[in-house]
Amino acid sequence: LFAGPVDFVKGVVAMSGLPDADRLEVCFAGRSNVGKSSLINALTGRKGIARASNTPGRTQEINYFSLGEERYLVDLPGYGYANAPVSVVEKWQRLLKQYLQGRVTLRRAFVLIDSRHGVKSVDEEIMKLLDSAAVTFQVVMTKADKVKAAEREKIMAQVRQALAKHPAAYPEIVLTSSEKGDGIATLRAIIATLS
Ligand code: GDP
Repeated sequence: LFAGPVDFVKGVVAMSGLPDADRLEVCFAGRSNVGKSSLINALTGRKGIARASNTPGRTQEINYFSLGEERYLVDLPGYGYANAPVSVVEKWQRLLKQYLQGRVTLRRAFVLIDSRHGVKSVDEEIMKLLDSAAVTFQVVMTKADKVKAAEREKIMAQVRQALAKHPAAYPEIVLTSSEKGDGIATLRAIIATLS
């Protein structure tokens, strides 16, 4: 599906460090522990590829992965850490704003939401940022295997209601389980067909 190497490219801490904007890219955002690394591993088919972003000291970096020669997958640092210092959070928010507003090749953001928890206030903040940067975002529900169908429907209704307030939201929600593999092929196809 992605022609060419799937690899970790680099971690970026400032706009000046971004790779050349020579191909389309998508970014992944989500609360810490939402299942972002697991999803990136499942998507790329490379167990452990997204581990770099989770090692201490790398958590505030924007991590670039190549999906073949024609796309980048961008792993944004997890947000909502309970005890992150204010200075770190502010520095990160500045970089995030610059990235979202300034990256011309960014086609879509995927906002990961835990199937058990739904949209939380920190998720709302990211969605507002995406609205103001006019970056289309699509919600990806994670850990779908952890909830029963009835509970999932309740959470999905809450998510849909939250999305209705956001002009940059893409209406279709992708349900995934990195554990079971559900939705992974769908997400891959969405990324591969973006133009
Ligand atoms: P991150 O902090 O967002 O990168 O989250 P991780 O990918 O490290 O996942 C956090 C925890 O959730 C880990 O214990 C994972 O094994 C677990 N997890 C992630 N995805 C799934 C999933 O699809 N199903 C289940 N059951 N557990 C998952």
